[in-house]
Amino acid sequence: MQSDRNRYPDLSNASIDWDGAKPVSTDFDDIYFSVEDGLKESHYVFIENNHIPERLADKSNRHFCVAETGFGTGLNFLATLQAFDRHASGEQQLHYISVEKYPLSKNQLERALEAWPELNRDRQELLEQYPDLLPGAHRRHFRDGRVSLTLIFGDVHEDFPEYDFTADAWFLDGFNPAQNPDMWDIKLYELMAKRSKSSTTFATFTAAGFVRRGLQSAGFEVERVPGFGRKREMLVGRLATCTKQSNTHFDLPQWLGIKDARSELHDNQHVDVIVIGAGIAGLNSAYACARKGLRTLLLEQNESAVSEASGQERLIMYSKLPAQWNQEARLSLSYLEYAQYHYSQRQKEDIENYFWNLCGQIQLAWNHAETERSTKRRINLPLPEEFMRYVDASEASRLAGMKLKKGGFWFPKNGQVDPRKLADTILKHPLISLKTNTAVSHLSQSDTGEWTAHSSAEDFSGRNIILANAFAAKSLLPEAHLPIKQIRGQVTSTQSEYVTSPKCVLCGEGYFCAGEHAHHQHFGATYELKNLHSQVADSEHVENIAKLRHWLPELEGIDDLYQQTFNGSAGLRCTSADYQAIAGPVPDFQALRAASQILKTNAKAIREIRSQHQKGLYINIAHGSKGLVSSALCAEYLSDLITGSPVTLSREQRQMLHPARFLLRELIRNQT
Ligand code: SAM
Repeated sequence: MQSDRNRYPDLSNASIDWDGAKPVSTDFDDIYFSVEDGLKESHYVFIENNHIPERLADKSNRHFCVAETGFGTGLNFLATLQAFDRHASGEQQLHYISVEKYPLSKNQLERALEAWPELNRDRQELLEQYPDLLPGAHRRHFRDGRVSLTLIFGDVHEDFPEYDFTADAWFLDGFNPAQNPDMWDIKLYELMAKRSKSSTTFATFTAAGFVRRGLQSAGFEVERVPGFGRKREMLVGRLATCTKQSNTHFDLPQWLGIKDARSELHDNQHVDVIVIGAGIAGLNSAYACARKGLRTLLLEQNESAVSEASGQERLIMYSKLPAQWNQEARLSLSYLEYAQYHYSQRQKEDIENYFWNLCGQIQLAWNHAETERSTKRRINLPLPEEFMRYVDASEASRLAGMKLKKGGFWFPKNGQVDPRKLADTILKHPLISLKTNTAVSHLSQSDTGEWTAHSSAEDFSGRNIILANAFAAKSLLPEAHLPIKQIRGQVTSTQSEYVTSPKCVLCGEGYFCAGEHAHHQHFGATYELKNLHSQVADSEHVENIAKLRHWLPELEGIDDLYQQTFNGSAGLRCTSADYQAIAGPVPDFQALRAASQILKTNAKAIREIRSQHQKGLYINIAHGSKGLVSSALCAEYLSDLITGSPVTLSREQRQMLHPARFLLRELIRNQT
């Protein structure tokens, strides 16, 4: 039975007993790996029997994908990393996607992997990157981005089908079928077939008859081979009949189909990506592509990167999570979790250039409405304390280093970013080049699919284009139906010795944080729908102080701010009609409009409408004031689409962000 998607999922850590150094699941009364030698078993059962070494060495398959059921201790993943180090050619990328319903805690994982000193370095890296106990997909990167891990915390039947990928090899793990019959169900084999191609192989430690028959009935050829250690037999095989990837019980429309959205990536072919716009969304898009081995050219009309809305002195990482567990909450959570990871990782790679101030953030319950929302959020979103925790006024005051009258939610992994320094770090990637003072006037595509971005001085060609130029994307897509608008925003920066800035970021009606020192204040921002210019206005600085006084009346010395010299910046945020970002493959709007006319009379036909994308054209815009948080995951998603890697967003999330959503909605409302 499908779980209630409006209730926070029942996600808990594994319950484990220790037999010496070996973990034993008390829920399933089974071991995680062989008592003889788990690492050797991993190599034999899953790696050798899927012929991973030979296949990783084969240069014709540059993006190799392993899918696993049951991440457990991560031993199979680490064994695959070993195989990757030993056998992969220089260009090879590995994508490892795994699902885990009962994730081990960090301590459990550390202890379970202690038996293999040769894994120490990778175990440490896995532990450092290991996600908090949050539902959904967690994208992690290893080996300078050549290996990506998509770790889904959720159920193999409920949650795994939400993610699209095509596996080259399956590690069919999971506890003994007799102990865990729910997992070893025909639904799993059918899903495996849908997420496979004709050369896809599988291996599993079990030789159970009902598993063999299930796999066969889903279209796999199955063979029995000798098992590891004391196990007589195990199963291996390959897909015999290829099932088309199709929608599962989530029953989402065909226009989400990602096969059509993929770029024509021929093996061994060099692929260029042109990213238009070097704000935060553009920088993150370029980085995500470059990390996957794509040579990326960033085009920026201004003199330098982060010149427009992303070009404030400080960008704040915060998220107003909804008070209900719904699709917005799932998306916000995925955004935030990935952004925290993304900026922390970039900082670790470039420690000299300090751009990421991991100071934490408090979402204050500053008024009645926010207090009510907080109460609901505490009940409906029981997130792990390492990620988000309710703190009362006295603890909030301690964390902020200043007297606060209200409590709120403490996000220890949030903070603030210096966007110019972030740009410096990102632009150090050897596969990214930046061309400034280049305003793209229009785009064209050749018969061979190559895109050209034309500017008055020069033309630039590449296999793919990502539009990350906010509102200006509209002028490059004259046929598009993208209801976006601009909102002016100004932030204020002052230096008052009478006002002590908080040690962390405070958010209420706006935000308030420290700058370079404790008597340097940053706060904002204004929201202005008219007067769409980007000059700084003194009247808006005064408005920002008034707003700060409104939501943080206890702030001592606030009147002195009026006496200070105001600094700050203003920019135009781009936002969409439903306030969600727009990220995904760009539709061929004319073709989509023609194919979707049926919606005017039959809204249910939406499921049948096929995706009509402009191959190689992608978009990452409309992040409003949350681009620091939302654009990183959207960028990662686009790089997945371009390279044909497992997609880090769920189908629900892709649908929420899809650029076609506005046109389809309008047709359904019969308004066009
Ligand atoms: N591959 C793992 C490793 O390298 O350590 C060992 C896997 S362990 C034998 C089986 C894993 O499957 C357990 O971690 C268990 O929690 C997980 N599992 C069991 N039922 C599941 C389900 N319905 N959905 C997702 N994971 C499940």
